[in-house]
Amino acid sequence: MSGLVLEGISKRFGGVAAVDHVDLAVPNGTFVCMLGPSGCGKTTLLRTIAGLEEPTSGRILIDGKDMTRVPAHRRDFGMVFQSLALFPHLNVGENVAYPLRIRGVGRAEQAKRAEELLALVDLGGYAGRPVSQLSGGQRQRVAIARALALSPKLFLLDEPLSALDAKLREAMQVELRKLQQRLGVTTIVVTHDQREAMTMADLVVVMGQGRIQQAASPVEIYRRPVNSFVADFIGSTNLIAVRSGGGQGVEAPGGTIPGVSLAPGQTQATLSVRPEDIHLVPAGEAPLTGRISFIRDLGASIETFVDADGTQIVAVASPRERAHFRVGDTVGLRLDPEACRVLAS
Ligand code: ATP
Repeated sequence: MSGLVLEGISKRFGGVAAVDHVDLAVPNGTFVCMLGPSGCGKTTLLRTIAGLEEPTSGRILIDGKDMTRVPAHRRDFGMVFQSLALFPHLNVGENVAYPLRIRGVGRAEQAKRAEELLALVDLGGYAGRPVSQLSGGQRQRVAIARALALSPKLFLLDEPLSALDAKLREAMQVELRKLQQRLGVTTIVVTHDQREAMTMADLVVVMGQGRIQQAASPVEIYRRPVNSFVADFIGSTNLIAVRSGGGQGVEAPGGTIPGVSLAPGQTQATLSVRPEDIHLVPAGEAPLTGRISFIRDLGASIETFVDADGTQIVAVASPRERAHFRVGDTVGLRLDPEACRVLAS
């Protein structure tokens, strides 16, 4: 296959399996976000792809060519680290041109290419500035421009935006995505921020305990998580323990949920339902009931916490759908069966 292929990649540090049998195929031009909690192995996997760590086992292929033993500097990948690693004694243009300089590209060509790269990241005219005079967001762009100097086959970024404040970070997510689309470069970004991953990625790779839990499009991951780890990690979800209801839906704490069935022979399972797929109705209008324990009005949305026989269920509504319930009221919970996911674990 053309693109990046990881075949059975594992990386052990002593007794720790930081990456555990990872298989992944990434077609050329894809924007991948590797997502997962701290310690799940995402940085180790990125460093292994980059050639900064040698895998304990497995193979890394690019367009069918085995890169596993190729040293990092010969892989022609562009990398941006959280620390950025800009050279403080070089100006902006020299930083961007550095990879060209060490490849022996002539001075005039270096300057021309640096200008083009800086224009690409909206820093046209900044070449002569000292790096120390740039804002955090501008430094970020210089690091990105430098990583793209050699037109890399693969663009790898480790938590590139985590040092930025929330607003700048969101703006940079959109810019990075647009830049990637313009260049068509296969890009892998490590992040622990699920919103960031959902904003930028074609392919979200959710990792947990060194393994890929699910690799799919953002919508697929959100709508059809394969297990409770993914469901819980991506956005907020309600995880409800249910039992088979004999053709009438499933039994849940607080009543029954119609329209949902378990697999043949399955007697119990976990149901994942997003808060926006649960609607509050007057008591008696749905076969599942609970008592409102807390209401959080966030302006743009209203979260209602309902205690259903000891299980907390959260429903989110827009202010337009505002139901006039109060804390202490008994309410009915209507779940959209299409939006309920019966999880394997
Ligand atoms: P974070 O988001 O906190 O950076 P991560 O998902 O990127 O976490 P890794 O840094 O890849 O996780 O670490 C995965 C596991 O491997 C952790 O248990 C970590 O302690 C271990 N590990 C990583 N690097 C080394 C190393 N050089 N030596 C020993 N153990 C390591």
